[in-house]
Parts: sequence; C-alpha cells; structure tokens
Amino acid sequence: MNKEFRADIHCHTNCSDGSDTPLALLKFAKNAGLQGLSITDHDTMDAYTPTFFEEAKKLEIEILTGIEISSEIDEVSVHILGYGYDHQHQGLKEFLVLMQGRRSERNRAILKKLKERGMPITEEELKAYATERTIGRPHIAQMMVKKGYVQTSRDAFDFYLKEGALCYASGIKYHPKEVIEQIHNAKGKAVLAHPHFIKKGSFLRKLLDLPFDGLECYYARLPKALELPWLKIAKERGLIPTGGSDYHGEIKPHIPLGCSWVGESIFRSLQNPE
Ligand code: AMP
Ligand code: ZN
Ligand code: FE
Ligand code: FE
Repeated sequence: MNKEFRADIHCHTNCSDGSDTPLALLKFAKNAGLQGLSITDHDTMDAYTPTFFEEAKKLEIEILTGIEISSEIDEVSVHILGYGYDHQHQGLKEFLVLMQGRRSERNRAILKKLKERGMPITEEELKAYATERTIGRPHIAQMMVKKGYVQTSRDAFDFYLKEGALCYASGIKYHPKEVIEQIHNAKGKAVLAHPHFIKKGSFLRKLLDLPFDGLECYYARLPKALELPWLKIAKERGLIPTGGSDYHGEIKPHIPLGCSWVGESIFRSLQNPE
C-alpha cells in the first residue's frame, strides 16, 4: 500500500456553491499532491461528466463519486454525504430532479420575503447570476451584497437567511432516512457530514441510529483534539471515519483543498466494489 496516498473527499465546485470548475479542481488537486478526490456538490452529480473522468485519468487522480445531499428533521438541516454510488443510477437522478424542483420553490419563497422587506431580487436575476448551478442561499446572499442590501454574505445569513431568520424559508429537504435510502439504492455509502455542527446531543444520537455507513471525523481545519471524540464514536458504532476540506474556492478562501484528507484504505472502503 502506498503510504503517501491522500484523498480529499469533501469539496465543492461551481456545479453547486464552489467557485472552481470541476476541471480546475482536478488541477488544484494535482498541485496539492493529492492522489484521490471526491467532489461532493450540494444535491447534484453534474461534476461527473465523461470529460471529467478522462481528465482525472490523464492527471492520475483517482475519483470516488460523491455528493452532499441536504436533509431536514423539524426544520433542522442535516447534510449527508454519499460516496461510491453509481452516477448513472436512474432512481438517484430522478430524486435529485425532485430535490431541485423543491429547491426552486424554496428559493422563490425566500425571494418573496426579501421583496416584502424592500430587498427585491428577481428569479431571473438569481438564475443569471448562478448560471446552471444548484442555486441556494449562498447565491442569494451574494446577490444581496451585490445589490447593496447588506455589506457581507455573513450579514445576509445572520440577519435574513439563516434558519429561523426573517427571510428564511424551509421546504427543500427530505428526511435523512429517505436520503440514506436513496444513496443505498444507488449502491453508495451514506456518511453523516460535519457532525460537530450538530449542537444537541439527543438529536445527534437519534440521527446516529439511522443506517449510516460512515461519520465525517476529519473536517477542514478542525483541530486534532476535536477529531478524537468523533473517531471514538465511529469506532464504537462500526462507522467508516471519513474526512475532507469542504473546500469551496474563493467563497471560503481560508480553507485550502487538501487541508483534511483520508488515506488509501478509507478511500477504498467507500468505493463501489463493482
Ligand atoms: P441551502 O442549501 O440553499 O439551504 O444553503 C445551505 C448552504 O448555505 C450551506 O451549505 C452553507 O454553505 C451555507 N450556510 C448555511 N447556514 C449558514 C450561515 N449561518 N452562515 C453562512 N453560510 C451558511
Ligand atoms: Zn456549500
Ligand atoms: Fe455541509
Ligand atoms: Fe460541503
């Protein structure tokens, strides 16, 4: 086994809310000395085109299919990573189309609330700004800055867009159980993303009783000491300990690609055996 093998298996491209194209990300992965990569865009597998796989092969970067799917229990958001799934699985494709439909409706509800508060952004403007990406609150926040309604994206979230804030609307998300099932049906592994974001112990325990295959223990620039409790839980529950940077490019410039990663055995255990 190659001791040097490193794979960043949590990152975003401009197919969702990252700033780089999937092809640019491959080059950055090569420059960062990574041998494996999984792009985990929000609610879309659009990064996984034939050209992407060809380019990865040329650069000798091994690809693990990935996605980060939004789910929700009682308006609390839960992100679920899917790995090693069949990216041509019809059921998963159809599920994601439904999800994008719900997302558009939810975005429309947010835009309506913003308009009522004197901060109009039209759907057309938002679409033109975000082009073909999974459009979400980060894009709305950026447009609010562009239009001078707020100074920073952070303010947009804090005052208007975060859960429970004045212009928040829920409704895109499915229950985690359903999302896990969709990933399993497409022969993938389901991993609970960034569990340290979940503040309520009882909520976390309830979640961990669901049939996850893995738990994201290494994350972005999370200090080593804060990884340990998650590694312990993963071990106790027989979950695969995963990790990655959650790179978004320019949107989160303090998070470089490859700042968290997994080694070869974890990478392989997430791959589809077929
Ligand atoms: P959406 O899927 O459209 O509801 O947007 C969710 C995304 O918004 C997450 O993946 C985060 O990147 C970002 N986000 C959520 N909450 C916040 C917050 N409080 N501050 C900044 N960004 C946030
Ligand atoms: Zn994101
Ligand atoms: Fe996330
Ligand atoms: Fe992410």
